[in-house]
Amino acid sequence: MSPFDDLMAFARETAALQQVAGRLSWDQETVMPRGAAAQRAEEMAAMEAVLHARATDPRVADWLAAIDPAALDAAGRAQLRLIRRRHERMKRVPARLAAEIARVTSLGQGIWAEAREADDPGAFLPTLAEILRLKREEAAALAATGGELYDALLDDYEPGATGAGLAAMFAALRPRLVALRAAILGSGRNVPVLAARFPAEAQLRLARELATAFGYDWQTGRLDLAVHPFSSGSGTDCRITTRVCETDPFSCIYSTIHEVGHAAYEQGVDRAFLLTPLGAGVSMGVHESQSRIAENQLGRSAAFTGWLFGRLREVFGDFGLADAGTFYAVVNRVTPGYIRTEADEVHYNLHILMRFDLERALIAGDLGTGDLEAAWNDRFLADFGVAVDRPRHGFLQDVHWSVGLFGYFPTYTLGNVYAGCLHAALRADLPDLDDQLARGDARPAMAWLRERVQRHGGLYQPAETIARATGSAPGPGPLLDYLEAKFGALYGL
Ligand code: ZN
Repeated sequence: MSPFDDLMAFARETAALQQVAGRLSWDQETVMPRGAAAQRAEEMAAMEAVLHARATDPRVADWLAAIDPAALDAAGRAQLRLIRRRHERMKRVPARLAAEIARVTSLGQGIWAEAREADDPGAFLPTLAEILRLKREEAAALAATGGELYDALLDDYEPGATGAGLAAMFAALRPRLVALRAAILGSGRNVPVLAARFPAEAQLRLARELATAFGYDWQTGRLDLAVHPFSSGSGTDCRITTRVCETDPFSCIYSTIHEVGHAAYEQGVDRAFLLTPLGAGVSMGVHESQSRIAENQLGRSAAFTGWLFGRLREVFGDFGLADAGTFYAVVNRVTPGYIRTEADEVHYNLHILMRFDLERALIAGDLGTGDLEAAWNDRFLADFGVAVDRPRHGFLQDVHWSVGLFGYFPTYTLGNVYAGCLHAALRADLPDLDDQLARGDARPAMAWLRERVQRHGGLYQPAETIARATGSAPGPGPLLDYLEAKFGALYGL
């Protein structure tokens, strides 16, 4: 066996163990008995220890040193790049610091959840300050010379992105989003609200139908219920979860389509990359682009909601909306709200832009945790025109910082930007797209995404993955054009 074969055999075994660890999390969120929590924490910590030891195994460095990249094909060189990157990042963080971060962030989520429930920032802020201190120390250990600390953390979720690059992209988004939002709210249009009951069992049957309509492969997938919907796994075991609210069918419908977008990406990666570093989505931003384009540009389109309206009437009877046009307006209602996860397409990115600026300032040391709540509330008032009424509607609403996820938020907007680029290219390539969507069939669009984006897995860098699919470097223009056209028409602007 050559050193490359040895390295790949080792990497395959690591990828298999990562899938096992992921399935433990899936089990915990779906079917695990409640009394198993403490034992499960120990099981997962043991898996983490094994995975950490493998990532820093000295044999990896020996194999990497012995391999001549010039003797490999493009996929082999990409495997090598990803393995080297992970190995070097893990080695730079001292074991003491890694253990401390794992310990503090595992407690952080529970402390945050209680503080949010009680609307008590004081109960969470000391923990947040400790997490921030450790994450800054980690960033300093990881940082390349010259870059800002934040870049080192961002690199975990979106390789190649930088704080400065994202700030420039977001600066281009912000004025047009703010102007669009103001025009919509000033239009005086009233959109009705749904006021009917939608039985849970029928919603779940519809969720399965929607997953099929978006090309979800049931041979390698399954659908279960979870409090916070997610997708899990890659290769030939890609599971999704959804939730059901009997007064709000959109929660189930659009959570399902969103998670199918994620799962379709994992199902769509070239099987030759199965259980290797290339065998999964390339970054959080590209992953989110696949879920967002399915959910928003396809699932919330006039064509698809036209079909969905008819299906809902068949399943649930008359639910008080006169026609498909009204239904389309209800699905896409724009309304300012405190909560990011409930935001419409126009407000969503404004939520992310403020989190990005705040967490970047926290990591840079320009903002202290003691001033975070005031900074959040000031910014929210400026961007949304509403004063935050309680901490759980403000800076206590998201779990991310409590588990140490600094640098994760911007990938949501990056995903929307990428989705905008892909949607423009997809429409140019598929002139019959609206006819297909109007028949409830999103599979041709998903097949286009599989061919252009998904099958490559981790072969190319994130921005290059999008550029290859669309023919040009990604930027915010197509997303803004799409939002202005769609909501301009809906609100008569
Ligand atoms: Zn997502």
